[in-house]
Amino acid sequence: MDYLKERELIVAYGKQLITEKLTTGTGGNLSAYLPEAHAMLISPSGIPYFETRPEDIVLMDLQGNILEGNRKPSSEYDLHSIFYRNRPEVRSVVHTHSEYATTFACLQQPIEPLHYIIGSVGEKVRCCEYKTFGTRELAEEAFHFIHEDKGILLGNHGVLTIGSDLASAFSVAKDIEVLAKFDTYGQQ
Ligand code: 13P
Ligand code: ZN
Repeated sequence: MDYLKERELIVAYGKQLITEKLTTGTGGNLSAYLPEAHAMLISPSGIPYFETRPEDIVLMDLQGNILEGNRKPSSEYDLHSIFYRNRPEVRSVVHTHSEYATTFACLQQPIEPLHYIIGSVGEKVRCCEYKTFGTRELAEEAFHFIHEDKGILLGNHGVLTIGSDLASAFSVAKDIEVLAKFDTYGQQ
């Protein structure tokens, strides 16, 4: 099995999605781009993060074909691969259903800049239109909507972040949840 280190990193950050309360159940997914293979490693679909092992991480090409792995890849593989196909600087994509941010997404409301950590995301955390989960339409909507930002809300769904590595995409997802909390209480 190739890319053990990269697989272990996805497993570790998957567990952190739970411990940092950035998602519930098996919601959300993570991936990392492998530039030398022009492929990606992505979390499997519907497997609890604390039960996911390195061999469960699926190696896929950027057209949606499985190159290695016995698991079903995340249903959002299009939402991840569209960035690796079109934006070479993006090396990792993280998707969460974190509670406060997803509440904003369900209201189709942006998270306004009340605290300086907004700087890690963009001018504010904007929210794109609702598209069905796991579809190419959702991938295209998010891809065209994000522009220069590092993260957005997916209408009536959750959060999507991008980064030059898994640590930075994960950290933006965390910042977005904190900003959503600050906005919720700061505007009262
Ligand atoms: P997967 O388990 O297929 O990655 O789906 C989770 C999710 O958040 C879908 O949007
Ligand atoms: Zn989701």
